[in-house]
Amino acid sequence: MLTARIQSIKISVWAVAMAALTVLATPALAQEDEYRDPQEPRWSIAIHGGAGTMRRDSMTEQQQADYKAALQKALDTGAAILKDGGTALDAVEATIRLMEDDPRFNAGKGAVFTWEGTNELDASIMEGNGRNAGAATGVTRTRHPISLARKVMEDSPHVFLSGAGADQFAREQALEQVDPAFFETERRKDALERFKASQVSTLNDSGDDDYKFGTVGAVALDLNGNLAAGTSTGGMTGKRWGRIGDSPVIGAGTYADDRSCAVSATGSGEYFIRVGVAKEICSRLYARFRREIDVAQATVPLDAEGFPTYIIHASEMILTQAQVQEEVDSVMQEVGDLGGDGGVIVTTPIGYTIYSFNTEGMYRGRADSDGLSEVAIFADEVTDPVE
Ligand code: ASP
Repeated sequence: MLTARIQSIKISVWAVAMAALTVLATPALAQEDEYRDPQEPRWSIAIHGGAGTMRRDSMTEQQQADYKAALQKALDTGAAILKDGGTALDAVEATIRLMEDDPRFNAGKGAVFTWEGTNELDASIMEGNGRNAGAATGVTRTRHPISLARKVMEDSPHVFLSGAGADQFAREQALEQVDPAFFETERRKDALERFKASQVSTLNDSGDDDYKFGTVGAVALDLNGNLAAGTSTGGMTGKRWGRIGDSPVIGAGTYADDRSCAVSATGSGEYFIRVGVAKEICSRLYARFRREIDVAQATVPLDAEGFPTYIIHASEMILTQAQVQEEVDSVMQEVGDLGGDGGVIVTTPIGYTIYSFNTEGMYRGRADSDGLSEVAIFADEVTDPVE
């Protein structure tokens, strides 16, 4: 009886819920044109190329332009896949592969050096549909660690492989292998020398931009409503004792869940692991979403028998971009309070793309099916009109 009542009420719920949400429940939805139809297919992508102490005076105009061109190329690659109806997973992998090959970034070729003078690479990937995940750490021979992470997810019974075993698995899966020297660059070698000379503990930031700059990541939503996230890095200059940061740790540096969001992080990995940043953001968004439904439902008038005159269904409800930003910022605030620095990129099932970082800059970019396409470096760069 009650079920029948709810079913019949639901027939007209869209228009009524729209009105209720707009007028009564969520002041942030006051502008009707801000409201996004949750059922409308859309795609979006956000990327990062590391966060840190970036000052305009420490980069030439040319360097800024080069970084922006590299970010734009990666962004366009992912966006083209999504626009053509490709999967979020393919977009994330293709975008990160491109950045792994770009020596500007601390991933694949151009990765930072360990204390011993080697390059040890980490990567992880996750899809929001079914929450499948794969990751690898301490890789020294596989050209594209992000593709290895995907193989772990799709073609192994495991989630996380390490060291020589991870490279062996990559070989068996016919992923391209290279001589470890392939990953070396003079810039990163110099950074190791400076790091060693500064005699700081590996757990303290040396203040050197090349210390950990340039981890890469991507998050995407595809036209089928599926989310994916991926992150790839060389870790931190001078890392030793087999140190592993957040980037290959599912839940810390990478997470995706179609019910809430996809996240990729960059920054001082120890803090991101302690906060469980990527999963924490998704959990908070999911909880906020449920909370906002309850808030909206509480505003629905009751009939003479005390039943709600309509039932708000999750598929008809969205969080606003401002609400999402608030939740993401609150997690980054915790990272900062503990002493960590860095940032995250986030995309949601409705296609918002969000940045949050507590550093002077983050190499970043985002694009979506509404025509947004931008790249930026410094914190003070005005990007999206919503911010
Ligand atoms: N999060 C990476 C790590 O701790 C470094 C970075 O993002 O810059 O290994």
